Amino acid sequence: MTVASRVIAYIGLGSNLNDPGQQIKSARIAIAETDKISEVAFSSLYRSLPMGPQDQPDYVNAVMSVATELEPFELLRCLQAIENEQGRVRTGLRWGARTLDLDLLIYDQIQLADPVLTLPHSGLPDRAFVLYPLYEIAPDLVVPGYGPLTALLEHCPQAGLQQLSS
Ligand code: AMP
Repeated sequence: MTVASRVIAYIGLGSNLNDPGQQIKSARIAIAETDKISEVAFSSLYRSLPMGPQDQPDYVNAVMSVATELEPFELLRCLQAIENEQGRVRTGLRWGARTLDLDLLIYDQIQLADPVLTLPHSGLPDRAFVLYPLYEIAPDLVVPGYGPLTALLEHCPQAGLQQLSS
């Protein structure tokens, strides 16, 4: 897939192990320092309740927007490399605890249903820990295939989401 020049992409960051706030900050730096990626905006940090198994710590989440010249699959590979560098061990347990989880939420206007890369991210429309930080940095966003972000938020209670810092 070829995408011309610089586009805007949104990345979801999450961690619930080994000093989660620091994991998110380190990931932010690693992403922004990657060749052909530059940071546009970064949300506050949020605390959220775990999905799935409850016998794990709460998560810290944030959303970042970047300008990039990387194609979508290249960008995903970069994010996975950063996850691996920050010690993530893939246990195969769905929704299990993790030092760092990086999701490519949105890449320009692209809609894609590939198991390796689904765009927008399949969890985006109903996850408070994605939608609220996203709203903070891009209130007027129209999510490809889903419509205005504000409409998604109307159907997504804040639940246990807590804003930590800006
Ligand atoms: P997880 O373990 O929950 O981080 O899921 C990672 C898997 O989801 C990897 O195999 C990715 O290829 C796949 N995946 C599909 N779409 C996306 C996306 N938009 N962002 C990140 N990972 C994705």
